[in-house]
Amino acid sequence: MAEVRIQGLLKKFGSVVAVDHIDLTIADGEFLTLLGPSGCGKSTTLAAVAGLDRPDGGSIRVGETVFYDSATGAFLPPERRNCGLVFQSYALWPHMTVAENCAYPLKLRRMRGAERAQRVDEALALVEMQPYAARYPHQLSGGQQQRVALARTLVYRPTILLLDEPLSNLDAKLRERARTWLAQITKKVGLTTIYVTHDQIEALALSDRIAVMREGRIAQLDTPRVIYEQPSDPFVADFIGSSNFLKGTAEGVTGDALSIRLDGGNNVIQLGLRPGITSGQRVTIAIRPERIAVLATGEPSPGDGSLLDANIVERSYLGSRWMYHLEVGATLLRVETARELPVGRVQVHVPPGAALVFAGEEAPEA
Ligand code: ATP
Repeated sequence: MAEVRIQGLLKKFGSVVAVDHIDLTIADGEFLTLLGPSGCGKSTTLAAVAGLDRPDGGSIRVGETVFYDSATGAFLPPERRNCGLVFQSYALWPHMTVAENCAYPLKLRRMRGAERAQRVDEALALVEMQPYAARYPHQLSGGQQQRVALARTLVYRPTILLLDEPLSNLDAKLRERARTWLAQITKKVGLTTIYVTHDQIEALALSDRIAVMREGRIAQLDTPRVIYEQPSDPFVADFIGSSNFLKGTAEGVTGDALSIRLDGGNNVIQLGLRPGITSGQRVTIAIRPERIAVLATGEPSPGDGSLLDANIVERSYLGSRWMYHLEVGATLLRVETARELPVGRVQVHVPPGAALVFAGEEAPEA
């Protein structure tokens, strides 16, 4: 069992609290991503699990093994944790072949020749790099080098896998392909994995669960789908997927709907009833740009939902679609759609469920 249990983890650098008492349990075999903006504490959390840094409080257990416990002073040195670490800079040894690179961790562990060769073979097969065993790193592409780096980690059968932005040195196209093979390999090996990234697409595509971090804390912990569709606050809504934020005032409840009067105009948006929002309260609404439709003025509504008066102030041709900047009352919305419309007055259709309402006015900066 390689369940990872992090409790009350605290790490400070001088006056900076990098990790602020986080609790996190990662199930055996789970792929969990720490996602968040630069400086939110992702790498510090990972380094604490790897044992590269001594925390200032809390505890970390993997299965039955205590990695760290501030209450007892226990601290297992990194070389005894058997964690498989892969970083952004994969640093293969340039003077060793692919096979020699992979064999090196086994040599350190004093594994004998025949067994070592078999393990290297297995690891290279797993990342589909067997045909390249005799090549040197400079004879490989960046993506292939990263596969070898992963094989070099998997070869010693780590208890858990810790990956810190492993794909970020790859260009966009390669990165997309690498995401696919990484997902396949991690599924195949079934290791408990903690993955650090600030790339939301990577997090959504790879993870069983995502912990969105902000300022050393976990803002939301859930499946990719819940994080995307039901973000817990405007910060998460903004960080995962791009959201448009509108401010307004709750007007009251009609049946099972809540009406919000948007600032700077006569637009009223109807939403499903949200508990905790009362009449007269200031609110922020997050709308996913891909969920809304732009209609010519007077065009009938395509279905249930709200129709808002808007004005296209700018449009850009993006090839497969158009991007519009629309004024809706006091706010500028960004919408991408395949439909071509001229600059001027239009309507925006917001289907039910496309808008989320949060109490308060804490919208992230546009
Ligand atoms: P990034 O995506 O940029 O790598 P991150 O989310 O991984 O960011 P951390 O590297 O964990 O963030 O850093 C968290 C906070 O701790 C930041 O404010 C950072 O400046 C600080 N920090 C991290 N390492 C050190 C260090 N060795 N000395 C001082 N401060 C540090």
